[in-house]
Amino acid sequence: MSSAVTNGIHPKLKGNRAQAIVDAAYAGKYAIAAICVYNLEGIIATVRAAEAKRSPALIQLFPWSIEYADGLLLHAAAEAASKATVPVAVHMDHAQSPEIIRRAADLGGFDGIMVDMSHYEKEENMRLSKELVAYCNDRGIIAEVEPGRINGVEDGIADTVGMEEVLTTPEQAEEFVNLGIHWLAPAIGNVHGKYGPSGPQLDFPRLERIAASVGDRVRLVLHGAHEEYFQEELMQKCIAAGVSKININGHVNNVYTKVGAELTGKVGLTTVIEEQTKAMQKIIEENMDWLMSSGKA
Ligand SMILES: [Zn+2]
Repeated sequence: MSSAVTNGIHPKLKGNRAQAIVDAAYAGKYAIAAICVYNLEGIIATVRAAEAKRSPALIQLFPWSIEYADGLLLHAAAEAASKATVPVAVHMDHAQSPEIIRRAADLGGFDGIMVDMSHYEKEENMRLSKELVAYCNDRGIIAEVEPGRINGVEDGIADTVGMEEVLTTPEQAEEFVNLGIHWLAPAIGNVHGKYGPSGPQLDFPRLERIAASVGDRVRLVLHGAHEEYFQEELMQKCIAAGVSKININGHVNNVYTKVGAELTGKVGLTTVIEEQTKAMQKIIEENMDWLMSSGKA
């Protein structure tokens, strides 16, 4: 476990599971698969994959889950995480308004929340992030922030449509570290969803400069790891450059809808659900191998 985490001194954050899981990945030079889930099948598939691979994991929910089901999916995820035989924690991905962040933090069950104010300009992003990170920390929840702006579209968010991509600088990362954050998601040319015809053009020198500047104090998160491009080689290149948590979304949830479309009406509903869960688990397990977290729990 890294002793260099200086932001873990808030008394309410003692024993925070999400922090411990990603700090261990940083120390062990692997990364945690943070699986974006939209339903119970995603929660079950993540925990089963983690247990099968003896890998730590993060279950991620979008604010959509709170708007759709209040705390029901969150509390199912928190229960699944606490009952798992390997370390699993629950994180909210891309919470983009002060209202949803306060509501999510007050529900109880999140170990971490991404305070994403990247749709504001830098000064406002800093001001709101500072206030909301403190709100989360006071409730025992660590925070992830996004200095700069990652472009693209993801199911559950649509923050940067029509907005200019802003790459993160080491100086900006340093300013955000001082807000009491634990995780930082740099914009290094990564985008949510599909990349252009030439694929991802990640700015690795920039990522390495950010890691050299703040990587001893905060863990770096990769967004936009679309499965079409991000497999074993590219993911491990990102880990070598300093990334300790990689968000996984598209492929896991696409296989859910694909299996559903293939089987619905042909077999019973319980079989459809079980096959969907199994298919998701398989993809998650593959990602855990790529991220080298398998066997680390
Ligand atoms: Zn993201």
